[in-house]
Amino acid sequence: MAAKRRFFIGGNWKANGSPASVKQLIEELNSAKLEVDTSKDVEVVCSPPFVYLSQVKSDLRKDYAVAAQNMWDKAPGAWTGETPAAMLKDMSIDWVVLGHSERRESCGETSEVVASKTKFAIESGLSTITCIGEKLEERESGKTFELLDLQMKPIAAALNEEDWDKVVLAYEPVWAIGTGKVATPEQAEETHAFLRKWLADNVSQKVSDSVRILYGGSVNNKNSEELGTKPNIDGFLVGGASLKGGAFTTIINSA
Ligand code: PGA
Repeated sequence: MAAKRRFFIGGNWKANGSPASVKQLIEELNSAKLEVDTSKDVEVVCSPPFVYLSQVKSDLRKDYAVAAQNMWDKAPGAWTGETPAAMLKDMSIDWVVLGHSERRESCGETSEVVASKTKFAIESGLSTITCIGEKLEERESGKTFELLDLQMKPIAAALNEEDWDKVVLAYEPVWAIGTGKVATPEQAEETHAFLRKWLADNVSQKVSDSVRILYGGSVNNKNSEELGTKPNIDGFLVGGASLKGGAFTTIINSA
């Protein structure tokens, strides 16, 4: 019997916020009433833009971890405009979101780049929320699983079995991100079950049993509870709704 996977809620703030709104969001999150045990049942990670990382790290409640939204997979040095993994670690940031579809699309990050960054992050002592997901045309032409296979292969090739302890996978169908068009619980569960089997077939049964697979794409305080009842959905990566303290707390409480 597989061990129970601890539910995971990530808040992806994307490139949103001002010093004042970030302060307010931190206050809302800090004063919210939780009905779940964050030391046991649910792991919560908030991912602000780079410029707010230290503010969030110092002021956010300590039972929530903090993630960067990207990192540079090289040692510190002559890399203008980049933030190497080691600098995040020095700032006591423990998580990094990698391979978000917005970065794959706008910054040309290929699945190979995402895989190599995931490996580098782990070697640097970070845990990763590594994102995958198909576009609308791939879903409509029945190529979802084919595409996920292509995205997963370089990641599996780059990691060894122990590395997977530091990885959370986020399945985020691109057509559901920021669109209000959430995948149905059945659609999400079918894809999560595919990914779970993919891990068993291509990595190991142990990794398949233990890796948390999050769903992301228009998750909010109204749909999270039903999505969370599915056996292979181990949590959420939340975008828009993570910018509202009340909604994000309701999603955490629905875990
Ligand atoms: P959304 O974004 O919840 O606003 O759809 C999710 C994400 O991109 O991680």
